Amino acid sequence: MNDEYKKFWPIKSDTSCYLKWSWSTIYLNRGTTASCHRTVHNHFTAENFDDFHNLPKKLDDRRRMLAGGWPEESETTKWGINGCTYCKHIEDQGGVSDRIVQLQNLGGVLQNHDNAIPPELLSNPDAVEITPTIVEVYFNNVCNMACLYCGPHFSTMWEEENRRFNAQEDGILVNPSWERDRERYYAMRDKLFVWLREHGHKIWNFGMLGGEPFFQEEFDMVLDHWENYPNPNLMLTIVTNLKIEHRRFVKYIDRLKLMVETGKIKTLNISASLDCWGPQAEYLRWGLKLSEWEKNFAYMAPQEWIILNVNLTITPLSIKTLPELIEKINAWDHDRLMRITAKNLKIPPEKFQDFQDKLLQLVEEKTDPRVDVNKHICISFMHVLDPTQMNPLWFGPGVFTEDMQRVVELMPGFTEFQRSFKTYMQGIAISIENTTRDPKKILMLETYMNEMDRRRGTKWSDLFPWLVDQFAQARTELGELGE
Ligand code: SF4
Repeated sequence: MNDEYKKFWPIKSDTSCYLKWSWSTIYLNRGTTASCHRTVHNHFTAENFDDFHNLPKKLDDRRRMLAGGWPEESETTKWGINGCTYCKHIEDQGGVSDRIVQLQNLGGVLQNHDNAIPPELLSNPDAVEITPTIVEVYFNNVCNMACLYCGPHFSTMWEEENRRFNAQEDGILVNPSWERDRERYYAMRDKLFVWLREHGHKIWNFGMLGGEPFFQEEFDMVLDHWENYPNPNLMLTIVTNLKIEHRRFVKYIDRLKLMVETGKIKTLNISASLDCWGPQAEYLRWGLKLSEWEKNFAYMAPQEWIILNVNLTITPLSIKTLPELIEKINAWDHDRLMRITAKNLKIPPEKFQDFQDKLLQLVEEKTDPRVDVNKHICISFMHVLDPTQMNPLWFGPGVFTEDMQRVVELMPGFTEFQRSFKTYMQGIAISIENTTRDPKKILMLETYMNEMDRRRGTKWSDLFPWLVDQFAQARTELGELGE
């Protein structure tokens, strides 16, 4: 591990984690919080809300890390993750964990955000009671889409569909009972805004996730908050499905632009979710209107003041049309960089067309410092673990080999961030090839898609004809196994 980070990170122990000290993910409606997306959640209530970042388990985790150890493995998630074992296992095998990546990126974060280190650590590197500097909030499950790999815990559209079809609490399609306690939710929400009024100026990254932020009443509350209690060091992060009527979307982007220009916040970071291109994308992300997504995304792409990311979820249904999406992103990215370069070269917008060839050449060469590679559109992703039938690994070697090769080829690698995600995508491709095919899980996908077709009036075989053979083959394999 490159130990450049030691110049900036006050804690000297070998297992300390930037996220464990700085980050809180809050699920407001469930009353849980975690130090990152890889570890277990701790419960809290409206009564002890102010301690959400300093609950006994988190304090214990930090003390153990200060002493060079790892958090106690006291609870296990359904994916077998407990304590910080996700990172520990990777590091035990000589790999690069999230913990290491975050520490190595810290220098870059500090270049743009002087408040990235929690204030208590600046005066006492052994401090364990900490004010978080990164807070992301899942307010509730209000959402206008019902993606195939999601569920009622993140989507009211899923909840409504389950009610309509009388879904039983049978494992896959349960409704989240914790969503029903509105009183508790409103108490938690009030507490959050009170906490933000007092501590919001210490945060450098505030994220709003969903459900769908643009579809939730809390979105205006969040914007009102930062307008009334500005934090000129803040990056406001919004993770969105971009399902919002274009004119409304433009109004919000204008409002956010004004917030940046008037120093209410420092930057806007938008992460737009999409998994592949074409009707397959609309099947997977049920409720999506791809033309609307495209229009909203294309509106943002040339605006260099927005940090822009596309967030992909890798499933067996997305891989074959994922290359088309990456080609689209690359085209938007090219145009974006050309426009930014034109601005840096002081070429007036009306003369942009006249300089196209020259700009294209500069962007492809990337040697001129006025081609600002830090403004690239980023691509991030994860592959589905749950529901298990949407995990592409179960198809084993051969089914996605060429598609994944194409995806990896197309993924850009100009910046450190892009290169790390390209390597990660290569890792997923290798994992699929090295996984033993599981015909039972493959047939679970067939059952699931049949049920979705029954509910939604769709027909999967029209969009995924290759699956017809795959399901037939899985039935044969299962018969050969005598099951
Ligand atoms: S799982 Fe890894 S990144 Fe998350 S808090 Fe633990 S050590 Fe840090």
